[in-house]
Amino acid sequence: MRISDIENKSFDLVVVGGGVTGAGIFNEASGRGLKAILLEAKDFAWGTSSRSSKMVHGGLRYLKQGKFLLTKAAVRERERLLKQYPGLVTPLDFIMPVFDHYGPSKASMKIGLSIYSFLAGPKTKNRQHKSFSKAQALELIPGLRKENLVSAVGFKDAQVDDARLVLRLIHEGCLNGGQAFNYTKAESIERNRKGYVTAVNAVDTRTMTQTELKTKAVINATGVFAENLHPSPVKGFHIRPLRGSHLVFPREIYPLDRVISFMHPEDTRPVFLFPWEGSVLLGTTDVDHDRNIDMEPYMSQGEAVYLLIGLKHILPDLDISLDDCIASIAGIRPVLSKKKVKASRESREHVVWKDKGLITVTGGKLTTFHLLAKDALNAAKKYLPKHLEKKQYPDISSHDPNDGAHEVSKAVRERLYGRYGSAAHLILKNYDPKTFSRIENTSTLWAEICYAAEYENVHTLSDLLLRRVRIGLFLPKGGQNLLDDIEILCSPFLPWDKKRWENEKKAYIDLWKTYYAPPGKRNETV
Ligand SMILES: Cc1cc2nc3c(=O)[nH]c(=O)nc-3n(C[C@H](O)[C@H](O)[C@H](O)COP(=O)(O)OP(=O)(O)OC[C@H]3O[C@@H](n4cnc5c(N)ncnc54)[C@H](O)[C@@H]3O)c2cc1C
Repeated sequence: MRISDIENKSFDLVVVGGGVTGAGIFNEASGRGLKAILLEAKDFAWGTSSRSSKMVHGGLRYLKQGKFLLTKAAVRERERLLKQYPGLVTPLDFIMPVFDHYGPSKASMKIGLSIYSFLAGPKTKNRQHKSFSKAQALELIPGLRKENLVSAVGFKDAQVDDARLVLRLIHEGCLNGGQAFNYTKAESIERNRKGYVTAVNAVDTRTMTQTELKTKAVINATGVFAENLHPSPVKGFHIRPLRGSHLVFPREIYPLDRVISFMHPEDTRPVFLFPWEGSVLLGTTDVDHDRNIDMEPYMSQGEAVYLLIGLKHILPDLDISLDDCIASIAGIRPVLSKKKVKASRESREHVVWKDKGLITVTGGKLTTFHLLAKDALNAAKKYLPKHLEKKQYPDISSHDPNDGAHEVSKAVRERLYGRYGSAAHLILKNYDPKTFSRIENTSTLWAEICYAAEYENVHTLSDLLLRRVRIGLFLPKGGQNLLDDIEILCSPFLPWDKKRWENEKKAYIDLWKTYYAPPGKRNETV
């Protein structure tokens, strides 16, 4: 359905932006019984929310900056999300070597981690930190730099598939009566003579048809784009787009079962080498993004060199170079800045601006999306009908015993229920041993691609391969050699003729080569 086809165009709330912030607000608002609609100008999770480090964490470094409340809120959210979304938000071990020539000392790490564990609350004993001797550190991190090594510390946080989190929040918001549209931009906001919001003009970016949506409340959750809809009300305080990038390697290069967290030798910023979906990611950077934010961001050669210098320092014997890299991912942090301090020292806290029915919420972290949602809805309260009772979400934690697919392992079922919520039973109901096999070198099932193509508002091949499933990010050449198989499998679900498939495949390959190929192997047309 397109937005112009909606019959009743009056809403309690229009949420603008289909990243994790907008999806979280939409989910919460629909769950509270509000008549909510979400508009996303490009694809769901197209922005920063598909390009993060995928960590659900308190952020140890914020403790160092004295941000106890931010850290506490985030680690409590981590605990909540682990319980609410098993199979999507999963525990992740971290290990961090301690050296005596740079970075935090053993004593300060111990204090920091004790506070970190304490802030997570009394019920998190299993997430307490550990200390490792130098010998244990060398065993746990093969090839670790021996010089000046003192010991290592271990702690637990969590990992999430960021784009799937966004899609699951939207899916549940729709189950609770909300409506969500991708490729639909909030072009402008109408106000009455007193300046109060009365409507949003939405444009379907594929047909360019315009639709007016009546509402008294709009939440602008457009991340780094927030000032396009509402300029900052604070003088000299603006969004500073900061790019963070990751390099993606095949697992064989350094098989990992936990995150290696280390300080970069040049600037002592934390850098992570971590496992994700059968690949190994190295990131991230933190540099000013001075390109057009409307375009796909991409990693610079300088960022790649910086990350590899850091890795070489910590694992000096590892024979790894940019040639081994499969892909790169870049995202832009919506950071609010007044003084333009060093990028990594900018605050990651969110802001909420109120303007007669238009609430803007930006900044923050993936981890704290629910706190942002509550703050934004609280700020919008005056313009919303009295909240109804929170509806009962469909029971997503208990698996449907009648889904029929007894052959499927517990781990696969957990993956499906985590990523697709209650819709997992649809995937399981259509169990077929052929589509329940994994795409080579990934944890993704062919059946997931079919489900996404059929049910998840896919409009381009890159929606499917970069955000519904993620194989475009961790298969060599973006999975180019699978495109014909994907066409055969998905043709029944996508209304594309032969010519459209050819165009989609070409457009996807071009996009991948231009923005996701590793620096140095990219189409340098941008
Ligand atoms: C490299 C990197 C690593 C990170 N790692 C982590 C991490 O490990 N853990 C963590 O907790 N956080 C992390 N973050 C932060 C986190 O990713 C962001 O805070 C979060 O994704 C921001 O979500 P958002 O919804 O506010 O913005 P976005 O995800 O950017 O969503 C905004 C959306 O609004 C849409 N939009 C813009 N204008 C309009 C309009 N007019 N109409 C309709 N739609 C519009 C855009 O297309 C976009 O999709 C990381 C960030 C980066 C850059």
